[in-house]
Amino acid sequence: MPEKCPVCGFRYELELGFYWGAMYMSYGLSVVIVFLVGISLYFLANDPPTWVYLTTVAATIVLCTPALFRYARVLMLYLFGSVSFDPTFNRK
Ligand SMILES: [Zn+2]
Repeated sequence: MPEKCPVCGFRYELELGFYWGAMYMSYGLSVVIVFLVGISLYFLANDPPTWVYLTTVAATIVLCTPALFRYARVLMLYLFGSVSFDPTFNRK
């Protein structure tokens, strides 16, 4: 993660350890994915054996980890960092 935004110069780390809370965001997002994949397998694959659930959920979580990492930080920044998007900023 870059230290500052290359466009507006916003410093991402608002305080020391600010992104520790993003771990809980990431956990929550992972739980949602596990439930969605599990429910999808149950209905679309007609309740497959347990090993299919385990491998599919594990593979999905591993594949989603880079996105989860980033979106958890973005959520943390927007929910607890008093940051909001300004579409008119830096427009000429
Ligand atoms: Zn910026």
